[in-house]
Amino acid sequence: MKMGNFWVFSIIITILAFTFTACGEEETRKREHEHQWNIYYYPSTCSTAGTEYKTCVVCFKETLSTMPIDPNNHISWYFNDTVERTCDTVVKGEEVCFECNAKREIDLPPLGHSWGIFSETVGATCTITGIGKYNCVECNIENPEEYILSELGHWWGEMVITKDPTCTTDGELEQSCIREGCTVPDKNVIVFQKLGHKLSVRTILSSTCFTSGRGEETCINSGCTLPAREFDTPIRQHNYVSNVQPLCTDDQIVTGTCTECSSTGTIKIERKEHNWDNLSNVRTCLDCNIRVNFR
Ligand SMILES: [Zn+2]
Ligand SMILES: [Zn+2]
Ligand SMILES: [Zn+2]
Ligand SMILES: [Zn+2]
Ligand SMILES: [Zn+2]
Ligand SMILES: [Zn+2]
Ligand SMILES: [Zn+2]
Repeated sequence: MKMGNFWVFSIIITILAFTFTACGEEETRKREHEHQWNIYYYPSTCSTAGTEYKTCVVCFKETLSTMPIDPNNHISWYFNDTVERTCDTVVKGEEVCFECNAKREIDLPPLGHSWGIFSETVGATCTITGIGKYNCVECNIENPEEYILSELGHWWGEMVITKDPTCTTDGELEQSCIREGCTVPDKNVIVFQKLGHKLSVRTILSSTCFTSGRGEETCINSGCTLPAREFDTPIRQHNYVSNVQPLCTDDQIVTGTCTECSSTGTIKIERKEHNWDNLSNVRTCLDCNIRVNFR
């Protein structure tokens, strides 16, 4: 045997020895230990048996045991909706176990009133407030709180003329409340202005060149009581006219005849403008032949 082989052999022996020693110790420890359990526990309910599964972390021993049903361990309930809830009192309700149909009583709190029914205790009028109240939709109990209903205000009807306007007095339109039962005699009155006289003049007697005439002034608005006013109209001026044509040289005093009374009198006929032949500096009047140098 060479020295090299010897060493290899020795090392193998040593490893084997160690290994056997380790195996022996492990076995001994397993035999002598107190089990250290990992426990998986499923509790019993009212309808299913519970289980306990244990496994030892040292030796991996397993045990499984079942436990008796626990009649008091209900897991989930449903509400048995058969009772009438109320607005203001706690009532007893019932829940039922999903698994075993066991029942238990529960308190159902009051729902509270719902104030949905309104009524008038005292109706409002045009001018006076009213009172209203609410009752519960569910139990009809009355809410002690009172509500003030605002006054309605008058309901004005059509405008009616109650007084026609005259020349000297205003007219009136009136509206009354048409709400049934309104006893307040309020009225809406609208005044519209008086018309004022509408005067018209007529001639009773025409005046002449020698005598005065008469006239009359009256108001033509119907129903006006303004008395007619008579008055003198003055003597007329003669209206003298003449056939004499005006000259461009001088004013003329001539005798004219009155178109109204045919009497005669003197009138002045005013000079007319020259009728120039052109607008240059030297001009000749075509009517009187006067020649003028304007330069
Ligand atoms: Zn063990
Ligand atoms: Zn149950
Ligand atoms: Zn109620
Ligand atoms: Zn009214
Ligand atoms: Zn009048
Ligand atoms: Zn005359
Ligand atoms: Zn002339």
